[in-house]
Amino acid sequence: MSNIKRSTEDNIAILTFDRENSGANIFDRDVLLELDDHIAAIEQASDLRGLLIDSAKRSIFIAGADIKTLFSAPKDELAQLLELGQRVFDRVAALKITTVAAINGACAGGGCELALACDWRVLSDASATRIGLPETQLGILPAWGGSTRLPNMIGLPNALDLILAGKLLKAGAAKHKGLADGVCPPEDLKEYAKTFLKRGKRKYDSHFLLHNPLSVSVIRKKATANVMEKTRGLYPAALKALDVACESVSGSHSESLGREREAFLELAALPQTKRMIGLFFLNERFKKLKPNDAEAGTIDTVATIGAGVMGSGIAYWLSTRGKRVILQDINDEAIAKGLAGIEKLYVTSVKKRVMSKIEATIGYDNIHASAQRVPLQNCDMVIEAASEDLGIKKKIFADLSERTGPDTILATNTSALPIHELAPVITHPERLVGLHFFNPVHRMKLVEVVETETTSPETLATAVAFVQKIGKLPVVVKDRPGFLVNRILLPYLVEAGNMFSKGADPRAIDNAMLDFGMPMGPIRLLDEVGLDVGIHVAETLAAAFPDRMEVPEILSKMIEKGFLGRKSGKGFYLYNGGGDPVPNPEVLAMREGTESPDNIAEKLAGMMTDEAILCLDEGVAGAPEDVDFAMVMGTGYAPFRGGPLRYSDDNNLNDRKFYTE
Ligand code: NAD
Repeated sequence: MSNIKRSTEDNIAILTFDRENSGANIFDRDVLLELDDHIAAIEQASDLRGLLIDSAKRSIFIAGADIKTLFSAPKDELAQLLELGQRVFDRVAALKITTVAAINGACAGGGCELALACDWRVLSDASATRIGLPETQLGILPAWGGSTRLPNMIGLPNALDLILAGKLLKAGAAKHKGLADGVCPPEDLKEYAKTFLKRGKRKYDSHFLLHNPLSVSVIRKKATANVMEKTRGLYPAALKALDVACESVSGSHSESLGREREAFLELAALPQTKRMIGLFFLNERFKKLKPNDAEAGTIDTVATIGAGVMGSGIAYWLSTRGKRVILQDINDEAIAKGLAGIEKLYVTSVKKRVMSKIEATIGYDNIHASAQRVPLQNCDMVIEAASEDLGIKKKIFADLSERTGPDTILATNTSALPIHELAPVITHPERLVGLHFFNPVHRMKLVEVVETETTSPETLATAVAFVQKIGKLPVVVKDRPGFLVNRILLPYLVEAGNMFSKGADPRAIDNAMLDFGMPMGPIRLLDEVGLDVGIHVAETLAAAFPDRMEVPEILSKMIEKGFLGRKSGKGFYLYNGGGDPVPNPEVLAMREGTESPDNIAEKLAGMMTDEAILCLDEGVAGAPEDVDFAMVMGTGYAPFRGGPLRYSDDNNLNDRKFYTE
């Protein structure tokens, strides 16, 4: 099988990555050996004045290493693969002729490491172009020379930012960080990249001031403290990558490559890494998931009803994805507020170089806002995100039924209301579905696609494909109270409230769950969500499952006093400007007991696992993977634990096992 084509243009060797029978270019042993052969041939050719590496794929340069074969290989094979990659990329770096990577599309992991071995990197400004080293997000580190080359190329602080966050950068941001040398439109990429060959071999800055032992020790200390604060030491990959990168700027290149390999092999054997790699595969699976055999329709024009937090968030996201959006609310004030929020998101995205000014203008122009009852006949889908009140939603759906065509999909973003109760008020109830986005919409990748009893297979297939098309990840769930994520999260939050009410220190509860690996403690989360919003969902669930959830009285008492959480400046904590919030003494005094429980994390995590099992048994979700993936993506459930059902299996919490491996 051929993966790379070699040609020559104007005495320039061109290596074009184009994996046969595949939409993506990836690195595995065969590709590395093929690249090695091409480099050997290029070394022999005396008439070449440069090498240009590009890709024939539409939106991928090289997506990275083939994770599947990498992690199914025995340790010695893995070690050989690491050595092979390092050797081949070193050979690229040692070429006497000037080299340039012309990058259009995703350039991640191993792809980025190959680009780092070239003298120059030129990126297209296409929206699919992204470059970076995401390895630490998978529990490993760049070990084909990336942890060694990047710090020496762009300086340790910039390199640590990129390696430790594991983020992929768009072209503008990559140029800003020194990872790209030039940016141009995709159609000019090859010719523009060729101009870099005239500049000759690259000489990198010695970063003398940044890389002297004293500076390195300061940078290292600061970066370690940041990692510890963010991860509480639960992610060894970040700490290992940090060590290797810091040491790469003093020792020899080959010693540093040795450290990369050693750290990689150590990390690859950890159970945490196994769980994170598992999530990577789930991510790939949900990106492609098809819920049934029905053909998915295309959604181009969408109306969002409600321009509040969620409606405007959804409208923003869809507009960035090229969808035409009609944004509706009941009056001009609500519309103006929604549009102001959307504008702010666009301005921030441009500032952060996530998009260009032109992209932002095009996106914003996709939104057509109105408080009038405009016709929606030509809309392919309506997403209702009005206030959480069944009466209001019924009225809206009855009205939508008249204003839309018979094929317009009618979706609701309700958090916990029974969606099937909207079916009787509309014609063609087979087009009814739930699309539960999470807040903030632009950051949260999960969307629960809620199948009701009347939802047709076509509607479900279209809704799932739509979610994937807009760059989110769908999990199909049944129309049961709280669906999947809130159903599992709420008993946990309520139990944290109960512990507090009985006397536990709020910081002890929050710290226990931070140490467990949650991104935020449950008491802080209640404050962030807002006590009024939280209690509304909690009461809906408590009404549906009275024997399993009792909402502590203290929550209603707090609401009465106006302690709504962060938005009111006071909740369980006080939010007085900067610094860490301190516990609110008035709420501490409202507690009914003085109990300080043991094993807080085990108890609270156990609540999530117990509810997850019930969801699985009731068929709210189809498989353990759906439950675990939804919890990690929807709540940030400790990714290295893999989800509440994996946590049960790995810690033998229940007699039954949910996974076979
Ligand atoms: P919000 O209060 O911020 O916004 C609701 C908007 O709906 C308001 O602008 C209001 O004027 C408008 N509205 C009310 N009646 C309307 C009508 N008849 N026609 C058009 N617009 C109308 O609420 P939100 O937080 O955006 O929540 C909206 C929906 O999304 C709710 O069902 C909520 O449960 C759900 N949801 C919220 C979150 C969250 O974290 N906020 C997360 C997921 C889902």
